[in-house]
Amino acid sequence: MTMAKAQNLEMLFHETLKDILYAEKQILKALPKMARSASSNELKQAFFAHRDETETHVERLQQIFEMIDKPARGKTCDAILGIVEEGKEVMEEFAASPALDAGLTASAQAVEHYEIARYGTLKTWAGQLGLKDAAKLLDQTLQEEIKTDKLLTQLAEQSVNAKAA
Ligand code: FE
Ligand code: FE
Repeated sequence: MTMAKAQNLEMLFHETLKDILYAEKQILKALPKMARSASSNELKQAFFAHRDETETHVERLQQIFEMIDKPARGKTCDAILGIVEEGKEVMEEFAASPALDAGLTASAQAVEHYEIARYGTLKTWAGQLGLKDAAKLLDQTLQEEIKTDKLLTQLAEQSVNAKAA
C-alpha cells in the first residue's frame, strides 16, 4: 500500500479497501490450488469452503465501494503477493513430503492473519468515519477470517502437524 497520497482517514480507508480487494482476488485464485495440493481431505475441504467465503468477501467489498461512491478497483498489494509466493514455494518444495499439509496450513494462516489485520483496521476506521453499514460488513468478514484461522489451528493441532513430524 502506498501511503504518499493518503492525506486523511477517508482517503486512507479508500486506499486500504483497494489493497484488500486486490488481496481477496489473489486469495480467490490461490485457495483452489492449495486445496488441490493438500493431501488431507479435511484440509482440502477447509480450503474449498473458505474459497466460497472469499467470494462473499469480494462482494461485501464491492458493496462498500458503492457506499462510498467509488469504483470497486483494487490496487497491487505487495504483501499478499509475497505471502502467496511463499505458499507456492512450500507447495513445490514439500510436494512429496509428509510435511506438505503442515506447510500449507501455515501459509494459509499467514494469509488469514494479513486479512484479520486489514479488516480489523478497516472496521475501526469505518466506525470513525460514521460508515456504520460498512463497519458491519467488514466485521462479518473479519469474523469469518478469525473462524477460518481457528479451524486451521485445530487441523494443525489434531492431525496435520503429527503427520509431518
Ligand atoms: Fe477474505
Ligand atoms: Fe480469508
